[in-house]
Amino acid sequence: MKKIILQGIQFDNKSSYLQGPKKAPPIIREVLHCGSANLYAENGISIDTPLIEDKGNFDIEAYFDIEQITKKHLEEDSRIVTLGGDHSITYPILKAYHQHYPLIDILHIDAHADLYDNFEGDPYSHACPFARIMEQRLAARLVQVGIRTLNTHQEEQAKKFGVEIHQMKNLDLSTIPDFKNPLYISLDLDGIDPAFAPGVSHHEPGGLTSRQVLSIIQNLNCEIIGADIVEYNPDRDVQQMTAFLAAKLLKEILGKMLE
Ligand code: MN
Ligand code: MN
Repeated sequence: MKKIILQGIQFDNKSSYLQGPKKAPPIIREVLHCGSANLYAENGISIDTPLIEDKGNFDIEAYFDIEQITKKHLEEDSRIVTLGGDHSITYPILKAYHQHYPLIDILHIDAHADLYDNFEGDPYSHACPFARIMEQRLAARLVQVGIRTLNTHQEEQAKKFGVEIHQMKNLDLSTIPDFKNPLYISLDLDGIDPAFAPGVSHHEPGGLTSRQVLSIIQNLNCEIIGADIVEYNPDRDVQQMTAFLAAKLLKEILGKMLE
């Protein structure tokens, strides 16, 4: 089994509304190891294993340094789980992945489709990563779950790129497909309802429950080659409840990858 590298990417320069996600990675780690819970995922697998190597946090100045850091870690023949950071980090991460995995599918959980051609003039905004990923063909298939903010432009973009969107308004988790290619999971915490995850920059009511996201992860039946958990904004959190949720989701993704 390939080892798993954990990397923290401290970067929120591409956030369109509030800053804060840059502070997330050390807080999620701290909560994971605070002694409140054990390190077993619900599938009975412990993430306290030498198969997981934590490379610590990287304070990013230049956006495309994220690609270089990820590339270096992929060269260790590993799978990578990244703690963000705002969602803009997924594009440079997947650029690095493309050199090692030419054919991957993406499961993207989010309130937002993040498909803007550019946002307020910036093509690398956290509102744009999946437009860049799809136009450069870094993914064979993009499946989005939890979306509840589609506008005309992003609907057109989704059509153009063949994005499969499972919107909140008529969500049926049983219709989420099986993935054939190696899978990358991109988890924007604002996909979850702000009642469960208040510590995000963009509160968008009417979202997924914690349990629904856990079920989506637990029901995956394919090779997972990487993941990110993004958009945790500690400045907006209440009693660290979103940090605890991020830590739980991290544990479940790692536990799934270790199956
Ligand atoms: Mn997002
Ligand atoms: Mn979002």
